[in-house]
Amino acid sequence: MKKVLVLEDESSIRSFVVINLKRSGYEPIEAETGEQALEELKKNPDIKVALLDVMLPDIDGFEVCRRIRALGSKIGIIMLTAKSQEMDKVTGLMTGADDYVTKPFSPAELTARIDALYRRTGGDTEDEPVLGELTSGPFRLNTRNRTLEKNGSRIRLTQIEYSIMKLFIDNPGKALSREDILNEVWGRDYFGELKIVDVNIRRLRIKIEDDPTIPTYITTVWGYGYKWGF
Ligand code: CA
Repeated sequence: MKKVLVLEDESSIRSFVVINLKRSGYEPIEAETGEQALEELKKNPDIKVALLDVMLPDIDGFEVCRRIRALGSKIGIIMLTAKSQEMDKVTGLMTGADDYVTKPFSPAELTARIDALYRRTGGDTEDEPVLGELTSGPFRLNTRNRTLEKNGSRIRLTQIEYSIMKLFIDNPGKALSREDILNEVWGRDYFGELKIVDVNIRRLRIKIEDDPTIPTYITTVWGYGYKWGF
């Protein structure tokens, strides 16, 4: 069964969601409070997608999301936000949510979002939950949807930055020359300057390093290129 956690304190909305999920072939696991939601996740490690309401009596949905990600969980998370919480969408995505749905929502809209997330999180290939994922230290690279997470938080990358990250993670501890990187990422038929590599590395460091002025993940190999290692 495809389990989906439904965290919503308002029972009328919760039953509406639950009925529609069952109709779409999902097995809803219900929770009324943030603490309950975290309990259910612990009891049901096979939950692949969670719907989290924001406004709750105890800890709010954002905090629940943050705690789920802090545990290293890679389940799909959809925040249920009210119209008045437009600004919170950003906060929600920053805390590690994958998507959000604004109330009031139609059953069709909600299940479409869950279906999409379920596919993306690999929920349909239950035997191979890690297929399409590369991990290195605090980083998780999803090669299917070309996304990067650091400690469970999404880092927005350009396609080029993603390709550089993939190259590094595929070659841990190996010194890569700037020519290597240029050829692999931009292609052998690209006749640009090597400088473009440095510019992209600089931008990537700002996004992924704890302190970009003292890079520890992407280290410089003087007079040669760069190395992924820590
Ligand atoms: Ca609520």
